[in-house]
Amino acid sequence: MPELPELQAHAERLEAEVGGAVLAGFRPITFTALKTYAPDPASAVGEALTSVGRRGKYLLLRIGELTFVVHLMQGGRLKPDEKQTAKPRGGIARWTFADGRALLLTEPGTERRAGVWVLAGDPEGQEPLDHLGPDADTLDAAALAPLLAAHPMRLHGFLRDQRILAGVGRRLANEICHRAKLSPFAGTAKLDADQIDRLAEAIAGCIADSLAVERTNDEMVRSADRPGNVHHRIGEPCPVCGDTLRSVEYRAYTVAYCPTCQTNGKTLADNTTSKFLK
Ligand SMILES: [Zn+2]
Repeated sequence: MPELPELQAHAERLEAEVGGAVLAGFRPITFTALKTYAPDPASAVGEALTSVGRRGKYLLLRIGELTFVVHLMQGGRLKPDEKQTAKPRGGIARWTFADGRALLLTEPGTERRAGVWVLAGDPEGQEPLDHLGPDADTLDAAALAPLLAAHPMRLHGFLRDQRILAGVGRRLANEICHRAKLSPFAGTAKLDADQIDRLAEAIAGCIADSLAVERTNDEMVRSADRPGNVHHRIGEPCPVCGDTLRSVEYRAYTVAYCPTCQTNGKTLADNTTSKFLK
């Protein structure tokens, strides 16, 4: 799933490509594409797309008084639609503009979980943005400390929980823990001030580094093609210390880490009762 840097860079690309275009129509292609009943998206017809922003892992298309909130889910894409075929492959929804251009939301496969919420007024505080914690790139150590204390859990899970902080996924969680030299299984409520400082620096640094790379791409790339020190590098030498990178495998994701840099050389096991790894 794309994370904050990929979506931020993509929002910037979309705004540069279609910013200012006047909406001619919005059409959900699948039954589940449009997640809201009111307001009517047609009420934005004739209005200009003034900006494309991002909140957490959502894209925000502001058109007139309305905000079209888009979630791409795992493999969805929102791209200029040159062909504008009647039944686009994987099509979820399409925006057409008065100058003849269009944007198409697509999602591969059959899950059909990507979607669009149409909101009037300030989208913050409205579904689906109302459950999001602060964007990860806005947090310094002072803002991070109370969040850690309030949510005692493993660090890797904390970083990925969009209700606590928004925008970090599996890849960034791995990279942030490695950069901060903290175990992905470290207890959030037990981190000391130095560790929290390192964590805040790692969050900011990993996001800034990724964003710099994403801004050089002209399209969102696959997770495996994004640069990283540990993610998708299991079995390779740690670029910091040379130790072999290891992993804990879960059904939906992989925790990747360096034993020397992060766990005092210890091997992590998927055992929630394990005490010596905290
Ligand atoms: Zn290392």
